[in-house]
Amino acid sequence: MRFHSLESRIVTLFLILILTVQLAGFVATRVGIDDNARALISEELAVGERVFDRLLEQNAQKLAQGAQLLAKDYGFMSAIGANDRETLVSALSNHGARIGATHTAMVGIDRKIGAMTAGLSSSLEQSILQLVDKADQFGSATGVGIVNNLPYQIVMVPVKAPVTIGWVAMTFPIDQRLAKDMQALSSLQVSILTRGKSGTWVSGASTLPRPAASNLASRLQDIPDGISFLPKLMVSNDEVSARIIRLARDADNTTIVVLQRAIDEAIAPYRRLQLTLLILTGLGILVTVAISAFTAKRITGPLRDLSETAKRLGAGNYDEAIQIQSQRDDEIGELSKAFEVMRKDIANREVEIRKLAYRDPLTELPNRAQFSIYLNEAIEQSKAQNRSCHVLMMDLDRFKNVNDVLGHLFGDALLRQVAERLKAQVQDNNGMVARLGGDEFAVLLSNCHGNEARAVAARILKSLEQPISLEDQTVDLGAGIGIAGFPDHGPDAETLLSHAEVAMYVAKKSGNDAVVYEAMFDKGSQQSLSLLSELRSAIDKNEFRLYVQPKLSLDSGKVIGLEALVRWVHPENGMTFPDDFIPFSEQTGFIRTLTRWVLEQSTILCHDLASRDVHLKISVNISARDLLDQDLPAKFSEILARHQVAPSSFCLEITESAIMDDPVRAQNTLEGLHALGLELSIDDFGTGYSSLAYLKRLPVDELKIDKSFVMNMEKDADDAKIVRSTIDLGHNLGLRVVAEGIESEAAWNLLMKMGCDQGQGYFMSKPMPSDQLLGWIEQWRPPQELRRMENI
Ligand code: C2E
Ligand code: MG
Ligand code: MG
Repeated sequence: MRFHSLESRIVTLFLILILTVQLAGFVATRVGIDDNARALISEELAVGERVFDRLLEQNAQKLAQGAQLLAKDYGFMSAIGANDRETLVSALSNHGARIGATHTAMVGIDRKIGAMTAGLSSSLEQSILQLVDKADQFGSATGVGIVNNLPYQIVMVPVKAPVTIGWVAMTFPIDQRLAKDMQALSSLQVSILTRGKSGTWVSGASTLPRPAASNLASRLQDIPDGISFLPKLMVSNDEVSARIIRLARDADNTTIVVLQRAIDEAIAPYRRLQLTLLILTGLGILVTVAISAFTAKRITGPLRDLSETAKRLGAGNYDEAIQIQSQRDDEIGELSKAFEVMRKDIANREVEIRKLAYRDPLTELPNRAQFSIYLNEAIEQSKAQNRSCHVLMMDLDRFKNVNDVLGHLFGDALLRQVAERLKAQVQDNNGMVARLGGDEFAVLLSNCHGNEARAVAARILKSLEQPISLEDQTVDLGAGIGIAGFPDHGPDAETLLSHAEVAMYVAKKSGNDAVVYEAMFDKGSQQSLSLLSELRSAIDKNEFRLYVQPKLSLDSGKVIGLEALVRWVHPENGMTFPDDFIPFSEQTGFIRTLTRWVLEQSTILCHDLASRDVHLKISVNISARDLLDQDLPAKFSEILARHQVAPSSFCLEITESAIMDDPVRAQNTLEGLHALGLELSIDDFGTGYSSLAYLKRLPVDELKIDKSFVMNMEKDADDAKIVRSTIDLGHNLGLRVVAEGIESEAAWNLLMKMGCDQGQGYFMSKPMPSDQLLGWIEQWRPPQELRRMENI
């Protein structure tokens, strides 16, 4: 039980409560007992005083009777009459001895001692004679006299014959015996003390042991006369209450009787009661602790269980039902029920979330997250069994087109159909199909060899050859598949997936249907990250250079334009050509920054040339990614305005494939650019798959035949045919036709004959730094002119 736990707090609270109550009771009882005992002692002492008085009185009566007997004795009376001293003394001593008197005396009518037994002291004599008057008056008298610090009780009766002829006096010692009698009657300690001339109290007789008796005498020293009750007095380390009874006093001496009672002794019976009470308290505390611990357990036990349950729920274990105390109808029961309801709700939601997290809602296939989990499991299994497993990653061709042209609903239905076909193809191999996103699917082939994986890929591709028909539309689908296997191509799920993806892109690029991953594919991607950061800093470090290649009119041989081509002077690799960084810039989106830089530099160049009265149309290459930027027209127009250059001085070259990636959006942007007054050109024409119907709709001004056809046209008749028909096609569409890749005069001439408007190529000039352009123009002589010059 932890100290801060609820259980220990409840127990502690109960304990403090009971202890407080018991302690208060105990203190109250103790104080009550003390007060009571003291009151009782004081009462006892008062009673003791009365008893002592009674005892003295009884003694006196006994003595008086004895003295009476003697006083009535005829012989004695005669002896008084005859003044027979001898007989008198003998009678006095006989009678005195019989009743235990210490002294006996006869006082004559002359009020003097007539006869007496031996040893009567003068002070006692004095005390006896003082009683004569009282005895004469009342018929008898009693008193106390002091001899040698000892008090004596004196009794005096008259001797009548019939008139008083004398008095008989007898003395009786108030001593140890009387003290003992008194103690027997009252159970008080009795001490008889006398103070003589010296002023110190001397203990005459006492029921106390001697040291205690003398201690009492010394304690009384400080007590002033006249005090009769001492509630608290220390006698030999005992606390006592005492009562002082004044017994006798003469000129020199005072005798007192001290009745005392030890307080502890009086309280002793109560102490036993207190002990019983203490034991009962202890038992009460034990019972309380037990009951409170039990109660606390009843409360905290289920709470602890519930908190364990909460931890379990927190850890994601929702399966186990909560049974704790749910049958109880108190708050704990309510809480348990609430917990159970919460558990069920969370469990249901968990299932829902899991479904959302791990299922693709469109195809009901596992998603990328789920696929990764399965792949990890398959890898573990393969490791354990020393086997291999494979991942096929597939991306559909032209899906974007389908989506844009036929709508998203159609696209969704198509994806569902593809999913069904995939499932059908892999079920014999226990393959698992997942949709990774968009038009990307993956297949996990656990426990399978590379050959088998390739076979499955081939089967999938074959199944996709069958056009998909939906809502009266038929769509031809193709796909690229990348294959990567454990352990050959990667040790874990992440690597396998990324390698399968790399292979898939290679497949799509190369036009192969299925490609198995090879390490060489990846070299580029290894350097990708550092390349991106290098590219980003290249602008700040001014590492890009604007190169230009002249565009000439084939008829006149005059320079009428130039194409802006970017170069990167890499700090380590030196001059880097666009093919090495443009595709990567496009992939990462960096191309937008780069395009802006080229536009800015080209505009500056244009302005510069115009200021030297050289008016050339500058062609700038725009990539697919730029076309997705709807703000491109606004950005370009801002740059032109800033440098006061007319839009008509520019022509933007867009490759066919860039347009076909997203024709609708491309068209929007192109229209925007065209509306600014910019000319547009379709670059690398002949390499893409543009639909002529589409081309017709685009606001283009120029067709640029791809250099691959131009460079070979002299040798390859097919290429020549393509070039010729492209020129015709362009002209028929009302477009200007430009040929790039003119490497020889023969090519120039051939193109000129074919009616091509403009040309560009190494024959005229390789791309050069823009500041060399004017120099080149100066020295440029077109072939016709040269020939003419030769003719001259
Ligand atoms: P492109 O737009 O088709 O540019 C023509 C390419 O053909 C240039 O290569 C040029 O040097 C080359 N060329 C011209 N005449 C001949 C010839 O007679 N024989 C041969 N063999 N080649 C010739 P470059 O400069 O390496 O550029 C390659 C591609 O990189 C360009 O093809 C263009 O698509 C892209 N590119 C270049 N600069 C930029 C740029 O600033 N922005 C964008 N987006 N792409 C650019
Ligand atoms: Mg170009
Ligand atoms: Mg080109």
